Amino acid sequence: MKCLKCFAGELQVGTTSLTYNREGSPIQVTVDGIPAEICPVCGEVYLSEVIAQQIFNMVNPILEAGRDMGDTAILPAPTVDIHFPPLAPAQLKQAVAV
Ligand SMILES: [Zn+2]
Repeated sequence: MKCLKCFAGELQVGTTSLTYNREGSPIQVTVDGIPAEICPVCGEVYLSEVIAQQIFNMVNPILEAGRDMGDTAILPAPTVDIHFPPLAPAQLKQAVAV
């Protein structure tokens, strides 16, 4: 598939890293090893709907928990890292296709 942003690159299967923040929540969540299709020309990243939903389901409760941290929290805001294990090329291909 061609990239929908630059219309020049042919999308390639790989993994990416994304960082999630939410207004009102001081927690920052970084997820890496996300199966994705990536444009080699402009770098645009495409997640399948299933993968985007799964990541949202993991990250959302963590970001929401940050809303309760407020100014009264004793500990500073944490950063949270989520790592997907490396996938074999065939598994990667399958993951981005769902
Ligand atoms: Zn592109």
